[in-house]
Amino acid sequence: MGSPLRYNVLVIGAGMSGLAAAIRLAHFGKKVAVLERHDRVGGLNSYYSLNGYDLDVGLHAVTNFAPRGASTSALSKIFRQLRIKPENFDLSPQKKSRIAFPGVTLEFTNDFACLEEEVAKNFPSQKDRFRKLVEAIRNADPYHPSAERRSAREAVSSVISEPLLAEMLLAPLMYYGNAMEDDMDYRQFVIMFQSIYLEGFARPRRGVREILDSLLNRLDESGGELKLESGVREILVENGKVYGVKLMDDSRIECDSVLSSIGLLETIAICPESSRREKKPAEGKLAFMESINILDSSPVELGMEHAITFFSNRENFSFRKPEEPVDVNDGVICVPDNFSYGEPLNCNMVRITNKADYAYWENINPMENLPRKRDWHSRSIEGAADYMPDIRDKIKFLDVFTPRTVRRYTGHINGAVYGSPDKVWSGGTALPNLFLCGTDQGFLGIIGAMLSGISIANQYLLK
Ligand SMILES: Cc1cc2nc3c(=O)[nH]c(=O)nc-3n(C[C@H](O)[C@H](O)[C@H](O)COP(=O)(O)OP(=O)(O)OC[C@H]3O[C@@H](n4cnc5c(N)ncnc54)[C@H](O)[C@@H]3O)c2cc1C
Repeated sequence: MGSPLRYNVLVIGAGMSGLAAAIRLAHFGKKVAVLERHDRVGGLNSYYSLNGYDLDVGLHAVTNFAPRGASTSALSKIFRQLRIKPENFDLSPQKKSRIAFPGVTLEFTNDFACLEEEVAKNFPSQKDRFRKLVEAIRNADPYHPSAERRSAREAVSSVISEPLLAEMLLAPLMYYGNAMEDDMDYRQFVIMFQSIYLEGFARPRRGVREILDSLLNRLDESGGELKLESGVREILVENGKVYGVKLMDDSRIECDSVLSSIGLLETIAICPESSRREKKPAEGKLAFMESINILDSSPVELGMEHAITFFSNRENFSFRKPEEPVDVNDGVICVPDNFSYGEPLNCNMVRITNKADYAYWENINPMENLPRKRDWHSRSIEGAADYMPDIRDKIKFLDVFTPRTVRRYTGHINGAVYGSPDKVWSGGTALPNLFLCGTDQGFLGIIGAMLSGISIANQYLLK
């Protein structure tokens, strides 16, 4: 009998964070394998084909866009650390986006001066206060080990005295990267403010496949392995240390360390009970319904000129699990055609995201699933009526996914896209050779996840 397979590091999950970590480790000669339970990579930001359409699961936009040459940006760090050429991601900047609340709209672009002018025009009394807030954000170091969790709402309202402006500034940051209900960790707020307002949005013309293909090429070139349909059933522990994993088919792989990107509670659930933390972290509750609408005509010609619209029909924006199956009173509308590609994209797609109640969608009678999705999709368009035309009679292809879809495909408890509100910023666990990266380490979104994988690999596994 041959000796069992043995690796320096096993990475659980081939989402953005797991792939980035594995590339980094393989660069430095570590024998590393990424174990993914699904039959393809990407996790929360994967892709699929349906009825002849190539679709992204989630991608609206890549954050942290920085023009070439901006060497200190998060994106440049990713390119450097993963040795990927910037042109491989083929990013095109947004044209413009907006935050639209009752009676007030703030437009923004990748030039921060645009948002400053919009704030000054719509909230003249807040012009200097906004500058002060931005200065505090620029000077903050959310990654510093001594930085502690505190309320972003309190921090913002201690400077911004117009509640509507505070709500408008928070809404996009919460929608694109917040696991807490009603409030946000100020560290996360600073990171997301930088990612969305101070840097900005871009999109690869070919969607998320462009990014995933680049990551897979680098993983392959650097000698890392990828094992699809290799779900991990158990992390094996002996004498207080991890020594390997057991897969769903009961085969075992041995290793020196494990890096898990599947989430904190999800990782705890596959560890032996004796090695679990005493205090159970909170479950994430924030989940979404998203519709992908392909129209028979151009959304731009129908008047949809923004790349991303964050809207709310209420002045008090509510970021919590809704009481009803879907909260159609606020949401995000994305039009992928509205980025400045060399050649126009003309994919005629509109994506609409609303908060949704996981329990409703998980427990629905399967016969009811499709009619309920159609019903809530229709209500979602009605809820966005002040911010987009009624596209219902122009849809030639529609796909709708709910929190149940997210749970089924990625294993995230409650279909919670941003995981637990209890983040583990250190990336360490109760076991000395088990580490966390990705969603529950604390860096969210595509760029955040890749940065997380890189920094945890650097910090613990490449010492
Ligand atoms: C609808 C939607 C839209 C989004 N839009 C954007 C956007 O426009 N821009 C942006 O920046 N971010 C967006 N995000 C967020 C972004 O996709 C995530 O923050 C990021 O991809 C998380 O990456 P990750 O590696 O941390 O985790 P994940 O993507 O969750 O990766 C974890 C992987 O682990 C696998 N796994 C789980 N359990 C096991 C197991 N036991 N064994 C083996 N493998 C396992 C999963 O299948 C998955 O592939 C969106 C997310 C969603 C759901």
